[in-house]
Amino acid sequence: METQILLTFDLEEFDLPLEFGCHIADEDQINISNDGLKKLSGILSGYNIPATFFTTSFYAEKNKELVKSLSEIHEIASHSKYHSRFNESDIAESKSELEKITGKQIYGFRMPRFKKTDLSLIKKAGYSYDSSINPTFLPGRYNNLTSPRKVYHDASTNLIEIPASVSPLIRFPLFWLSFKNLPLPFYIYLCKKTMIKDSSIHLYFHPWEFAELESFNIPGYIKTPSGDYMCERFDKFIAVLRETGDFTTISDFLKIRSV
Ligand SMILES: [Zn+2]
Repeated sequence: METQILLTFDLEEFDLPLEFGCHIADEDQINISNDGLKKLSGILSGYNIPATFFTTSFYAEKNKELVKSLSEIHEIASHSKYHSRFNESDIAESKSELEKITGKQIYGFRMPRFKKTDLSLIKKAGYSYDSSINPTFLPGRYNNLTSPRKVYHDASTNLIEIPASVSPLIRFPLFWLSFKNLPLPFYIYLCKKTMIKDSSIHLYFHPWEFAELESFNIPGYIKTPSGDYMCERFDKFIAVLRETGDFTTISDFLKIRSV
């Protein structure tokens, strides 16, 4: 079987400057994501590849038509209701709001910032899978070095857990910050090693990374590259990846069908 490539994007309001004490109005948070999404969609449709978009229902409510049209080609999954605040009821409510907007069943959930969540709530809300684990050690955020690297069933809920990819052995995270900050050939080398070992790869980025972020007072390792440089780098990366496998959505990869 061909190697399966899962590109996932957290489609959320761009609230990240708030973490660094920088004010950004709600409307601007949405606009930045929209700018980035437009550029990203251009690249994905240029290569005709499907992806999975974990979307906050706050973002989706403000962009109903856009999210509905994304759902025609890509999988829409839930990224809770808001990126910056959380109530347990948001897990279920975001699912029904996204289902109303897309007219399709929503199978997957990812908690903002990969925060630890009670899987029984995700199961109870009717999701088929969770994707809120990066099985690595990020100082100050989480230590998931004992979590499995590959897809597994959670023992108590039987929910499918699909972790973000990390390299074999040293578990180097292959997430968005590595893509930005490592030399591209080295990042590609780590991805290829992972694909050989796992026969699949699961990466995550954000549409706002494709918008121009240089004017924001946030650290360079987060905002550089962004905009056109990010698009160029991502385009080069996709051109290499597509020689090595097939792109698919998470629900297709897990063979989840509506009941
Ligand atoms: Zn997020």
